[in-house]
Amino acid sequence: MELPEFSLRQRSAWLKNLDTQMYDLAIIGGGITGAGIALDASSRGLKVVLIEKEDFASGTSSRSTKLIHGGLRYLKQFDFKLVHEVGTERAVVHHLAPHLVIPEKMLLPITENGSYGKWLTSIGLYIYDYLASVEGDDQRKMLSATQAREKEPLLPEKGLLGAGYYAEYRTDDARLTLEIIKTGLNYGLTALNYTRVDAFNYREGKLNGLVVTDTKNEMQYQVSARCVVNAAGPWVDLLRSMNMDDGKTKVFLSKGVHLVFDHRDFPVKQSLYFDAGDGRMIFAIPRNTVTYVGTTETAFKGDPNEVYPDAEDVFYLLKAVNAMFPELKLTPAHIRSSWAGLRPLIREDGKKPSEMSRKDEILISDTGLISIAGGKLTGYRKMAQRVTNEVCNSLGKHAACLTQQIPLQGGRFADHQEVLEYMEEQMGRTRWIPLSKEEINYLVHTYGRQTDVIREMMLQYNSEAPALSLIHAEIDFGLRHECVTCPADYLLQRSGRLYFDIHTVRRYLPEILGHFSSKLEYNAEELDIEESRINSILKRISHPS
Ligand code: FAD
Repeated sequence: MELPEFSLRQRSAWLKNLDTQMYDLAIIGGGITGAGIALDASSRGLKVVLIEKEDFASGTSSRSTKLIHGGLRYLKQFDFKLVHEVGTERAVVHHLAPHLVIPEKMLLPITENGSYGKWLTSIGLYIYDYLASVEGDDQRKMLSATQAREKEPLLPEKGLLGAGYYAEYRTDDARLTLEIIKTGLNYGLTALNYTRVDAFNYREGKLNGLVVTDTKNEMQYQVSARCVVNAAGPWVDLLRSMNMDDGKTKVFLSKGVHLVFDHRDFPVKQSLYFDAGDGRMIFAIPRNTVTYVGTTETAFKGDPNEVYPDAEDVFYLLKAVNAMFPELKLTPAHIRSSWAGLRPLIREDGKKPSEMSRKDEILISDTGLISIAGGKLTGYRKMAQRVTNEVCNSLGKHAACLTQQIPLQGGRFADHQEVLEYMEEQMGRTRWIPLSKEEINYLVHTYGRQTDVIREMMLQYNSEAPALSLIHAEIDFGLRHECVTCPADYLLQRSGRLYFDIHTVRRYLPEILGHFSSKLEYNAEELDIEESRINSILKRISHPS
């Protein structure tokens, strides 16, 4: 498999040439929104640079519920257009990366004191399926209490009236963002992480470039671009104010928290969407050896760079889980990991965060800055199409959107069945270091067909335990093909191990740091900095309060 180099070396080469290039489009923000636009625009033949101040997907796009879903609850807001768009997009995105956007049946228990009765749930799910054109076996089913308990024995008998059973997809938001960016590289995209946009340049009142800083060494560069898109998510307003826009805030920041438990402490057999007890609904999603739960929804007024779960978030989620599953008796001591993210919602004065729409909006300023606010992970491709259409209009270029036909890197599978067959095949490969079913599952759902490359890379570490040789090979792969720049990039955005496999991180941390140290030639001080950074992340995510 031919994979483009996407490494620190490539990044340096791009930065070295940055001042001398003229880009058609510069995009600010390497989350799912910026990534989607970058792929769309480069595949339409534009010369594009994507600029991200931290690691790719380190903002909201690694802190979502990780569902590619139609947003059942938006039916409650009568947002049929949004449900239709994201609902139909689910199938498209699944087709583009069947290993990464995986069918997931959702169980919606109906309880005596719950917000929704059987009738309302049945109608709601019917409309949901209809708007998303869901067909065949995937269409919703209404289950009796006994059938619901067969699907999920953890549901208490008392008060259970039945359940709705319907189709969604789960994903890894950060990996989806990464694979979109990597796919863009095949179309000549330049993608820079740890590069911050500090100022705009203008000629005769019109934007014609950016001043950016490589935050790895504080070097400054000028970027010339015919068009600039602001896809900075929770930072959209900050960039709009730097551009001397009208000064009105467009975005409302709503914080959402997820908690992760060992699966043995929260042993759900399948994904659930249940009543939190206050009219809101939350998800519980099993994933390999853990179950995660979320989300909260509260107004956020602090620094978007510093978003963490607090004691109130923990209390709220634990209360909701323990009310639904009284046998579990979960306490803060059971929390293994956690994350918090900010939804950049279009501000609607007078509404509660949970009532605000998830629609997106394009804003074009007098200087020519195109800002995109709001939206959802699920609708990234359609949002990108709309923004790229605006970009093409402003550049006078006529080119149709192609992204519906471009499989994402690692995702050249016809469907999920082929993904399962590929997993089977991986189990039988004797040439490679044997891995457990769970490890193969993780690898294929994380990297798709790039699993072959990683397993090949494992061979040079064959004297180590398979779990460790896998980690070393993943790091090598990340350094060479995914612009990993430090241990945190690998452990958070590339592998998600700090969220979903924290035990292995704790067990192998010295080896992980040692491997980075030898590959990136850290001196003692640098190694110390990376070690303290990971230890402080470990402490924060496993003891949220
Ligand atoms: P971000 O991912 O935040 O990206 C913006 C990027 O801009 C950041 O990485 C930031 O570092 C960068 N940036 C900012 N300023 C600068 C600068 N000066 N220079 C360079 N770069 C800069 N959607 C779904 O479809 N399904 C879900 O299950 C789902 N669950 C969610 C749960 C929660 C708790 C939250 C918070 C959101 C959820 N969403 C979900 C919504 C979805 O996650 C977001 O809509 C999406 O991730 C936003 O992506 P973005 O690219 O716009 O923003």
